Amino acid sequence: MMISSCPQDLLSPNIEAFFPDNDHALTGTTNNESLNNSAILKDFQINIRKISSKSTEMIFPSGMKIEFNVPMKRYTSFKIGGPADYFARPASVEELLQLLRAARNNSIASLVMGSGTNILVKDNGIRGLVISLVKMKNEIEIQDIDTDHVVLSASAGTILAALCRKTIRDGLEDFSFAAGIPGTVGGAVMMNAGTGIGTISDSLVSIDILDTDNNIRRLDRSQLLFSHRKLDFISRPAISSVNVRQKDSQPVILKASFLLRKGNREKVEQSWRTLIKKRKTTQPHGMPCAGCFFKNPDNGKSAGALIEMAGLKKRRVGDAMVSEKHANFIINLGNATAMDIITLKEIVKKTVFEKFSVKLSEEVIIQGE
Ligand SMILES: Cc1cc2nc3c(=O)[nH]c(=O)nc-3n(C[C@H](O)[C@H](O)[C@H](O)COP(=O)(O)OP(=O)(O)OC[C@H]3O[C@@H](n4cnc5c(N)ncnc54)[C@H](O)[C@@H]3O)c2cc1C
Repeated sequence: MMISSCPQDLLSPNIEAFFPDNDHALTGTTNNESLNNSAILKDFQINIRKISSKSTEMIFPSGMKIEFNVPMKRYTSFKIGGPADYFARPASVEELLQLLRAARNNSIASLVMGSGTNILVKDNGIRGLVISLVKMKNEIEIQDIDTDHVVLSASAGTILAALCRKTIRDGLEDFSFAAGIPGTVGGAVMMNAGTGIGTISDSLVSIDILDTDNNIRRLDRSQLLFSHRKLDFISRPAISSVNVRQKDSQPVILKASFLLRKGNREKVEQSWRTLIKKRKTTQPHGMPCAGCFFKNPDNGKSAGALIEMAGLKKRRVGDAMVSEKHANFIINLGNATAMDIITLKEIVKKTVFEKFSVKLSEEVIIQGE
């Protein structure tokens, strides 16, 4: 995660805030001469189509946009969240680097996300630049290792479902666990996404990340510590130069590689179908949510079982409700605010603790203010 608080002047986002150097301030004008002098143009050759104090977006020559004041409810599966000051979806590592460099040069905090299926954004939004990697996708490579194995590599923005389809088509095993998990490969690795039959870390061999010199570094499995729905970077020397600008930040994952067994296409497909069917019968379908809200405790009953035993199914705060179908899902019935969800999850935590002395911790990442 690469987010921290922003200077006060960024609270009302506008183009001047993104480029706070006064010499280059772009104030309600489309004067190209002043633009040509701007540091940002020198650095990034941005072709700004709409320059005014009312600008809503800025467009790079490649077509990539930085949009201003973007409601995060559009980009999270909860369909909740106030505006991000700046929002962009780079389509390549080069565009991602341009954005990170521009943010850093202007002391603007940045947050990298995937599809937003595990994030709750608070109602006042996110101060800084949110970068979604969903357009950095479709780069799936498969390399034969021996008669029984391949290494499959996918860029961070690749949708997990697309990867699942590819493994089915090619009869590759070890990815069935991911059947029905939404989101991107990068998000899945950060969250160590998984189900009862496996997690993404089981077959992971390496990831590529960005370092502060804007070089791509490869970290192998031994440098990564996976636990339940969590990735930690254990190899300090290896990440000392990683792109960590704030103390709570994380490197950006660009690509992940997995060692998969060659198998039988029908068998792989059948196992995928079984899991999808099970998911449909046990989880709410089509409701805005972020999957399981709480992590399962280390031992004993699952979070869902504890919440259900505490009698909390269908408990509501505003339009936030504990799902009747799966008690670990908090769903948005239509107009839930982040505050509704947060109030409800606190009720759930308190009740479960009072009844069973178990402290639940959130799996969903809460962002913003
Ligand atoms: C209906 C539903 C069902 C779900 N079922 C499951 C399930 O069975 N198992 C499970 O584990 N999860 C499940 N989830 C949760 C979610 O889908 C996974 O955690 C998923 O892997 C998140 O991917 P994402 O791209 O949406 O990540 P996001 O939600 O966008 O981000 C998650 C975190 O990862 C960080 N991040 C994302 N991409 C990168 C990157 N490239 N580099 C650095 N940091 C990054 C973000 O900053 C954030 O902290 C479910 C969610 C929904 C809505």
